[in-house]
Amino acid sequence: MLYTLRQIVQEVSAAGNLEEALAIIVTRVKEAMQVDVCSVYLASDDDGDYVLMATDGLNPDSVGQARLAIGEGIVGLVGELQEPVNLEAASKHPRFRYFPEMGEEPYEAFLGVPVIHYRKVMGVLVVQQTNDRVFDKDEVAFLVTVAAQLAGAIAEVSTGSTINRLLEERTQSNTFIRGQRGAPGVAIGTVSLASVSSDLLAVPDRDNSDAAAEEKLFRSAVAEVREALAENRERMAAALPPDAQAVFDAYMMLLDEGSLIKDTVRRIHEGQWAPAALRDTVLAQSRVFEQMRDRYLRARAEDIRGIGRRILACLQAEAQVQREYPDNCILVGEEVSVARIAEVPVEKLAGIVCLKGSVYSHTAVLARALGVPAVMGVGSLPLEHLEAAAMVVDGHRGRVFIRPSPTIVDEFRRLVEQDEALAEKLAELRELPAETSDGHRMRLYANTGFYSDIAPALAQGAEGIGLYRTEFTFMVRESFPGEDVQYDIYRRVLEAIAPNPVTMRTLDIGGDKPLSYFPIEEDNPFLGWRGIRVTLDHPEIFLTQLRALLRAGAGLDNLRIMLPMVTTVGEVDESLGLIDRAWRELDEKGEAPSKRPPVGAMIEVPSGIYMAGILARRLDFIAVGTNDLTQYLLAVDRNNPRVADLYDPLHPAVIQAVHQVVSRVVAEDCPITVCGEMAGNPGGALLLLGMGVESVSASGPVIPRIKWVIRSFSQARAAALLEGALKLEDAGQVHALVDSALREAGLGELLAED
Ligand code: PEP
Ligand code: MG
Repeated sequence: MLYTLRQIVQEVSAAGNLEEALAIIVTRVKEAMQVDVCSVYLASDDDGDYVLMATDGLNPDSVGQARLAIGEGIVGLVGELQEPVNLEAASKHPRFRYFPEMGEEPYEAFLGVPVIHYRKVMGVLVVQQTNDRVFDKDEVAFLVTVAAQLAGAIAEVSTGSTINRLLEERTQSNTFIRGQRGAPGVAIGTVSLASVSSDLLAVPDRDNSDAAAEEKLFRSAVAEVREALAENRERMAAALPPDAQAVFDAYMMLLDEGSLIKDTVRRIHEGQWAPAALRDTVLAQSRVFEQMRDRYLRARAEDIRGIGRRILACLQAEAQVQREYPDNCILVGEEVSVARIAEVPVEKLAGIVCLKGSVYSHTAVLARALGVPAVMGVGSLPLEHLEAAAMVVDGHRGRVFIRPSPTIVDEFRRLVEQDEALAEKLAELRELPAETSDGHRMRLYANTGFYSDIAPALAQGAEGIGLYRTEFTFMVRESFPGEDVQYDIYRRVLEAIAPNPVTMRTLDIGGDKPLSYFPIEEDNPFLGWRGIRVTLDHPEIFLTQLRALLRAGAGLDNLRIMLPMVTTVGEVDESLGLIDRAWRELDEKGEAPSKRPPVGAMIEVPSGIYMAGILARRLDFIAVGTNDLTQYLLAVDRNNPRVADLYDPLHPAVIQAVHQVVSRVVAEDCPITVCGEMAGNPGGALLLLGMGVESVSASGPVIPRIKWVIRSFSQARAAALLEGALKLEDAGQVHALVDSALREAGLGELLAED
């Protein structure tokens, strides 16, 4: 059964469209369970009716015709209960509905299981048999497992086929794909794929203009791979036993003038460019092998894909010409790296769409800092068909429209105008202080990691930089930047902001912030080697950065240094030791600031909540990083769209935790600031105001909104709201409380987008 199950899942994943996938399911399940009928009913998008979408056993003419309204029939009951229904005599059940046109009459034994994807009942999988029988426990377990495994595959194929239809039929549409809100705003533009990985599935369709030249490129890539393999085989000859060397022979054979080469060349001459011709050949051939029952032959599918990836990498290297980005470019990719974002000219970048990730992932954080609308975690999109497609990105609501109709474009143009009108209104606050009606002054700083963000952040009214993510400087390079390179960057930033303060956070890599040239392989990277743990283990990297920072601060006296991911006082003491050492060395040479700059730590992990007072005694300031703190308190990976709904900085536990940190730090007379995204959320900022926080740091584009919030309340009113929020039991209640306060204060416009 397990083998059958795996094979069904593989075949369904390889199906080109939903109809094909469902046909495979019903035939295979009927065979495996030896029943008379297997059918799939899917919930329709329009009214939730269950529509018969595929059957092996019932009248095929009723496919697409037979439907059961909500609450109707036993199929409907399965959907309502969200549980299997196993009946010996279906016709005796009160919910039985007879469909003569479906040819259902003789079937008495009935087993229906729901097909559920992320809590949503997508349909019902049913098996039926003529004779009276009850399906046994193993059969129920098998069908439940099939349905669970297939839910994802059906969701994937159905999204993919909707999009393919939109693209292939050249129809324009009002249909959208749902994701997570990444960064607010609306973008109307043209897709440019972000991925140049050797992922065959990510290769876009493109016509070639010269088949002969394209064939030449392909053949030279094949020759390059062949040469590299021959070299590898030679080099490893002494170390590998003969049977292992045969692996190289198998690879080399694929590169001979066999079907892999011939079919790709044929596709090139049919008009495809080489990467897509290779993609289609590799996928077609590997699919044939995957469906074989023999284990050895099945494993050949991986060889074909492996060799395909290597040829693709060579083709991509050859085509490494300067990329042209369209105006109003929407970068779309499985993940859109910081390096890729930095490649697109700022004036061309209109939007970002990521298949993975959520609102708190670093791509989203960066998009907000740049003021670029973004949608995250849209799941599976057929990237290969999306290059150059028209797209609308609705960052306010987390929606993506592919090939939008003119009506949709007009509607979104109106939204863009509304955004602009709000921005214009808020620009009037630019010169006014972020001060409450009862005189509480809040400092508003900006989060950034790029020099190019500084001028826009100042234009939005930022009073300094509250979080400069130095890792971005490291992430856009091919190797560790040296001291002088870092010095130049930090100096420019500090000069641009002086005399206002800049809080430079020391290198915070690990987790979801990888460096391509310093790979960290871990099973659980978020609980692994991150932030200060890495830099303390590599004093040569840490000291280089500290020297660059301190030299950059000389004569300006606006540098503050902040340590990320602190868990123990030992880390603080060690870091302070290294900072003192670097400062003394530079001071002797006359290259240091007049005194050692203030040093602070971020409270980002739960232990920090309890250690906040102790840390405050050792340091000059404390900053709460609510992004990681929320992630670790709620045990929710901020990049995982499956659990993104659980991630909420307004969860009562997070509010209690931040409140405790603030109280402990204030009791030590130590300055406290909040620089996670909670500070950039109007409701979050209101609660922080209630806690008496005197400075927050948020993405530049949201600063005017936060200032509007602060200026619309008194600190006393915010404190009363906080008191109410601290008594609540659920994040939904907290949202309702702050939303209604914002509405009452006339700030409803902020909620429409939030
Ligand atoms: C945080 O964790 O809240 C934070 C500001 O750091 P980052 O988002 O860069 O991890
Ligand atoms: Mg963090």
